[in-house]
Amino acid sequence: MRLATAEINLTALEHNLAQVKRFAPNSKVMAVLKANAYGHGLVTIAQHLNEADAFAVARIDEALALRAGGLTKPIVLLEGFFHQEDLPILLANNFQTIIHDEIQLKMLESVQLDAPLNCWLKINTGMHRLGIAPEQFDMFYQRLQASPNAQNKINLMTHFACADDVKNTKTVQQITLFDNLTQEVQQAHCLSNSAGIIAWPSGHGDWVRPGLMLYGVSPMANHTGKDHQLKPVMRLTTKVIAVRDVRAHEKVGYGGRWQSDKPTVLAVVALGYGDGYPRHAKEGTPVIINGHRYGIVGSVAMDMITLDIGNNEHNVQVGDEVIMWGPELPVEEIAQCADTISYELLCNITPRVSYEYQ
Ligand code: PLP
Repeated sequence: MRLATAEINLTALEHNLAQVKRFAPNSKVMAVLKANAYGHGLVTIAQHLNEADAFAVARIDEALALRAGGLTKPIVLLEGFFHQEDLPILLANNFQTIIHDEIQLKMLESVQLDAPLNCWLKINTGMHRLGIAPEQFDMFYQRLQASPNAQNKINLMTHFACADDVKNTKTVQQITLFDNLTQEVQQAHCLSNSAGIIAWPSGHGDWVRPGLMLYGVSPMANHTGKDHQLKPVMRLTTKVIAVRDVRAHEKVGYGGRWQSDKPTVLAVVALGYGDGYPRHAKEGTPVIINGHRYGIVGSVAMDMITLDIGNNEHNVQVGDEVIMWGPELPVEEIAQCADTISYELLCNITPRVSYEYQ
């Protein structure tokens, strides 16, 4: 039996999708499942998102894995394609592609396909990562319409850069630019990630693209999923594998980076950066054992973490379950302690962790 476990609560997942629909009742939902469904398990998560209208992933291999798993909904490739040879594969598998660059347009124009592909023309309204310039919009749109490989199957997309910051006016500027450019075009419009869904209703459009919020986690700074009536889907747990006394000033762990100024008790738990736990989690980063919070001390190692449990007044024992994050201990809080974002913590879970779907 493996010690580190990611318990995945599929009822919470379904709840969160319903919550997306409460935020954006007039939009269809393209559930974002890239990076192994943000570390939750691609195919099983997809199988429990019956109420989603489509799936979105970054790469073709992720989309093919969904088809291999028996999923039949439309799948949008958020990075599009890179080789002309990929285009028949996209068509055969009912994948929809982003077009974000002239190179892709040229490849699409110069291939002969048996039927038109569904395309999403991505406009750069301020993210400055992928997307055509606003002034190129008419030219791209007309050329796509003229191509037998796209014809009228052209939807429109943009991506927000700062939607997690409600005070930042950039999102309104992005929405306005997108709306002004595309208002004459009847095809579907898609703008919002989770933060857009939660905080910017004027950007909901015909389709929304939630990722993080489906997993019950907040994209907004200094918030947790609970603030938006979301339920965390993952609980990451492990076990205590040693409880030991240390004397005052004994230096604990690699580099001897931590010592207590009085005698204390340490609990050693079986999880480390080899399981995806952040090595840079700072001293005091919380875990929960039997309902009590304890703080990490010393360096996070590949397989183990040490906790200062004081005089062990709650009688922590070898074999006790340790909650690293989950409904009781928001992953947002751990991300803050590790100076990163919850997206990274969830995606970083490694194959050493076993998954239990409930
Ligand atoms: N749309 C695009 C293009 C993305 O790259 C992402 C994720 O990074 C999403 C939507 C989903 O974002 P979130 O997880 O913040 O909802």
